[in-house]
Amino acid sequence: MKAARLHAPGDIRVEDVARPEPGPGQVLVQVMAYAPYGTDVGTYLNRGGRYVKSYPVGIGADFSGIVAQLGAGVEGLAPGDRVSALALDHCGACANCTKGRHNLCLDPAFRTPVRQTCCEEYTLVSARKLAVLPDAVGFEDAAMLAGPVDALNAFRRMRLEAGQRVGIVGVGAMGLGAVAMARALGLEVVAIGGSGRRSDLAGDLGAAHLFPIAAHGERVSERVLGAFPEGLDAVMETTASAWGMDEAFAVAAPGARVALTGGGDLPVSNWQIVERELEILGVKAGPGQVDVLEFIARGDLSLRPTITRRFALDDVAEAFTLLAGPQARDVGRVIIEIGETA
Ligand SMILES: [Zn+2]
Repeated sequence: MKAARLHAPGDIRVEDVARPEPGPGQVLVQVMAYAPYGTDVGTYLNRGGRYVKSYPVGIGADFSGIVAQLGAGVEGLAPGDRVSALALDHCGACANCTKGRHNLCLDPAFRTPVRQTCCEEYTLVSARKLAVLPDAVGFEDAAMLAGPVDALNAFRRMRLEAGQRVGIVGVGAMGLGAVAMARALGLEVVAIGGSGRRSDLAGDLGAAHLFPIAAHGERVSERVLGAFPEGLDAVMETTASAWGMDEAFAVAAPGARVALTGGGDLPVSNWQIVERELEILGVKAGPGQVDVLEFIARGDLSLRPTITRRFALDDVAEAFTLLAGPQARDVGRVIIEIGETA
C-alpha cells in the first residue's frame, strides 16, 4: 500500500509499505479523506524537536474511512462500515470512561497517547476510537471532527447556551471548527485573529464579529475591547500560542470562563486570577464524536465550505509545503483524498 512517511523535517515522501494486519481490538481502516491540522504541520516541521524522536514516521490523525478488516474480539463494527476516529484511545471501563468522559481515561495504559497515522491507504485504529457515520455524513466532514469535538467539550464545560456570546481566539483548523460548532449551538461568535482568507471563512461560517490581524502577532484585543468594553464572558483559545493566550486573557471580562486547548505559561498571575475571578478550563480533545456527527447529519454543522484545496496522496508534499508556507493564511482546510469514492 502507499503511505506518506516523514524522513526529516519538511521531507515527506509517499512510499510502498506492507499493509498492516489488525491485532486484537484493532480495526484496519481504508482511509478515504485526511484533513491535516495544526499539529500535523508541527509534526511535518518537527517544531522545537517536540513532535518526532526518530525517522521515518507516519503522519495524520483526523480522517474518515471504511472498515476493511477486524482484529480479534472487535464487536459492533463490520467490514464496509463508514467510520470516523476519535483522537484519543481509552479503556472503556474506568470511572471516567463509564461517565462518558473517555478523553480523561484513568487507565495508566492510555495516559501516553498512541500516535495515530492516517496519511496512508490503510491504517490501524483501536476499535474504541471509531464511530459509524450516519448516512447523511460524508467522508470530508467526517475527516474534520477534531475542531468541533474540542469546541463542543469547551462550550459544554463553559455552560454556554444559545444566544450567549463567545470569543474564539484563532481561526486555523481548530478555530474554524469552533466557529462552526458555536453557530450550530446558536452562540454569537466573536472571532479574534486570523488574516486573509481564513478570517473571511470565519465570517462565512457565521461569526458575527470579526477582528482579523494585518500581520502575524498583531494584538487586536484593544479593538475587541473597543467594541465590547466590558470584555467577553466566555473565551476559547485555539492557537496554543503565546499570542493567543495573551489575547484570550486580555479580552476576558471579570468573572469570565477561559477555555484553553494548549499553549505555554499562563499570561496572568495567580493574584490576577483571584482578582478577576477567572474560571480557567482545560480542554483535552473531547468525548463528543457521536454528538458532532449528529449535528452534521442534521445539517446544522459543516466545515466543507472551509475546504480550499484538495490533493491526491501522491501530492501530499505539495500540500504540506502550502500549509507550512506564507500562503497558509489564505488556505482554509486542505483535504488529502486517499481512497476511491465509488
Ligand atoms: Zn478509561
